[in-house]
Amino acid sequence: MVMKFGGSSVADPEKVRHVAARFVDARRRGLKVVGTVSAMGKTTDQLLALASDVSPTPHPRELDMLLSTGERIACALVAMAIHDLGEEAISFTGSQAGIITDAAYTRAKIREIRADRVLKALDAGKIVLVAGFQGFSRDTMDVTTLGRGGTDATAVALAAALGAACEIYSDVPGVFTADPRIVPDARKLPIVSYEEMLEMSASGAKVLMLRSVELARNHGVRVHARSTFSDEEGTWIQEGDDMEHPIVSAVTHSETDVVFTLTGIPDRPGVAARIFDAVAGAQVNVDTIIQNVVHGKAEMSFSVPNEDVPATRAALVGTQEELGSFDVEENHDLGKVSLIGAGMRSHPGVAAKMFRTLAGLGINLQMISTSPIKISCMIARTEIPDAVRALHGAFELEREPIAE
Ligand code: ASP
Ligand code: MG
Repeated sequence: MVMKFGGSSVADPEKVRHVAARFVDARRRGLKVVGTVSAMGKTTDQLLALASDVSPTPHPRELDMLLSTGERIACALVAMAIHDLGEEAISFTGSQAGIITDAAYTRAKIREIRADRVLKALDAGKIVLVAGFQGFSRDTMDVTTLGRGGTDATAVALAAALGAACEIYSDVPGVFTADPRIVPDARKLPIVSYEEMLEMSASGAKVLMLRSVELARNHGVRVHARSTFSDEEGTWIQEGDDMEHPIVSAVTHSETDVVFTLTGIPDRPGVAARIFDAVAGAQVNVDTIIQNVVHGKAEMSFSVPNEDVPATRAALVGTQEELGSFDVEENHDLGKVSLIGAGMRSHPGVAAKMFRTLAGLGINLQMISTSPIKISCMIARTEIPDAVRALHGAFELEREPIAE
């Protein structure tokens, strides 16, 4: 069994001991236990702040050297606490555990896991702790990190490599119909399909890192997202069945997107390709894209995650030189609210009801984008909480769906 604990679950010495006891408990139930933990509390944020205090543009290789220490600290401490409880434990860095990644600093992808050392330690009866969020590139012989929230990816990849079950523990008891801090009567979902969870993680749900859900789907790993602080059943992320799906399963939101609007772009074939090649070349994941032609010139808007703003700006400067100057504006005051549901594929009218609900609050829709099982609207960031509450109510997500 692979058990992953998030940063808030190991935020202080007492919590470290609590997590150690959960590992010991699983071991004493006869399981072979591989643990992976995130850095304690806000460690990663603090290390990032420290780096930017020292350097305006921290060197990516050195950033990974720095950030990967957070998880090593947490793992070593958990291993010590396990020893005190009378079980054997051993902590490994990502590279000691054989986690091989590509060479992309700060956003590396796991390529394979050479688990020999982990398996040997398990066979010797030890609880094995693997530092989350990191690996090792054989191309550069360097330490890499997997992107924010990357310990989820470590856990799922380990479970896939070892053929193990995967439990992801955090301070929330599962996946909810909306963020319970905004919607007090949000409901915990017993099961979420991979495809719905992919859309939820991509549109702002923070329970699971997007990449970990991709890994889980690609390798058929069932993930149990549950609470560190109770034994209650959490949410299972697994293959969807062919039964009827609720039309809408959840409302998600995100307040970290920035919208770029480009105006006065020449209207000819290949221009969008050129712009988005440049943006993709800077490793930026673009979300909603809208294009329009006004008076023979193209206008384009797209959103990117906040942390990718500098890279996007730089990429656009390059294309401006090539395509002839166009204007670039940034909007930092928007947020995104999304409805997710596998059932909307076969039920018309969801978008209309969503727009009607937002119109009822006098909310202006700035951008709209859809997938077969998701509808997203960009709106003023300040109106996100009201929008989430209204949509949750309008689609009656607080109620258990009734099988049709
Ligand atoms: N510590 C890293 C982060 O804060 C990785 C993780 O928590 O999974 O993003
Ligand atoms: Mg996390």
